[in-house]
Amino acid sequence: MTRTLRGQLVLPEGVRPGRVAFGTHLEAVTAEDSAPEGVFLLPGFVDTHVHGGGGGDAMDGPEGVRTLARLHAQRGTTTLLPTTITHEWARVLGALWGVREVMDAGGVPGGADIVGAHLEGPFISPGRLGAQPPHAVDPTPERVAQVLEAGVVRAVTLAPELPGAEAAALAFVAAGVRVGLGHTRADAETVAALLNRVHAAGGRGCATHLFNAMGGVEGRLPGPPGALMADPQAFLEIILDGIHVHPVSVNLARAAAPGRVLIITDAMRAAGMGDGESELGGQHVTVRGGKATLADGTLAGSVLTMDAALRNAVALGLPLPEASAMLSGVPAASVGLEDRGRLEVGLRADVTVLDRDLNVQQVYVGGQPVLEERP
Ligand SMILES: [Zn+2]
Repeated sequence: MTRTLRGQLVLPEGVRPGRVAFGTHLEAVTAEDSAPEGVFLLPGFVDTHVHGGGGGDAMDGPEGVRTLARLHAQRGTTTLLPTTITHEWARVLGALWGVREVMDAGGVPGGADIVGAHLEGPFISPGRLGAQPPHAVDPTPERVAQVLEAGVVRAVTLAPELPGAEAAALAFVAAGVRVGLGHTRADAETVAALLNRVHAAGGRGCATHLFNAMGGVEGRLPGPPGALMADPQAFLEIILDGIHVHPVSVNLARAAAPGRVLIITDAMRAAGMGDGESELGGQHVTVRGGKATLADGTLAGSVLTMDAALRNAVALGLPLPEASAMLSGVPAASVGLEDRGRLEVGLRADVTVLDRDLNVQQVYVGGQPVLEERP
């Protein structure tokens, strides 16, 4: 069955009236003289860093993965990487095998496509945990082999100063894994050196939530953000919830790295659940006014969803095509997905339909409706 949607096509080169036709893949993307105003057709969002949502968390096992995949699909995300948190070794491995179980079962009906996991920790600096519980360990060859055995890790976060980090990064590159640097106390030189090794080996380097859980940028001390922005190839994750990163810093990253900035949610269990009490990595979290914090005030991930991130980006003044690319095309490229991320004939029919206020109206994952037009 072929479905046709008409509206304003959000393409990399601009917004054009037109229509898309698709079965499981996009069969036509056609500009037309006119199309309904206030209907925006975008490539579905790709979230490479999302711990939870809708009450579920990647650390819960398969049911948590299914719950978060469904919640975020309702908000326009059509592809995601369930993201683990630093925890006891056995629990981290268990979470990866839980993602494997969901993928082996054919994914999540009514949910976003699961294309692997993001292993955020435990290979991070014990001195820059952010909201991660204190179970950081070094990336020994044995541990790296164990996490790769589950066959699902598609992105990893590493602190480059840890013993064994370089060998680990190269092992992840060899396995096709995006190597994110973050939760680090390293200096700019150490970050730049590891990025160079990753890129020389043909890998994809990345910043894990740029500016968060790493030092700042100063003239004589450019820190991890300076090294990451200055590298000509590194992708840069940014949490665009209006809380984690100052608007000027967002614009700094855009100016330094056009086409390399991608938006993530870093959402935790409470995303989509309103204010209240929640949990992250076994720690108590309070959500108030859209801000998730541990008891000591540390930001505990976010309750952001990708549709809200898009509205935040547009409110900051980003053109819609650029914001859309930061939510779809760039993140897809960052994890080596060439079959999605743009409205282009032949790609997967991952389509998110927004109204004039950029609220989600319809969502299709591989052509299957997960949210159908509201009456
Ligand atoms: Zn983090």
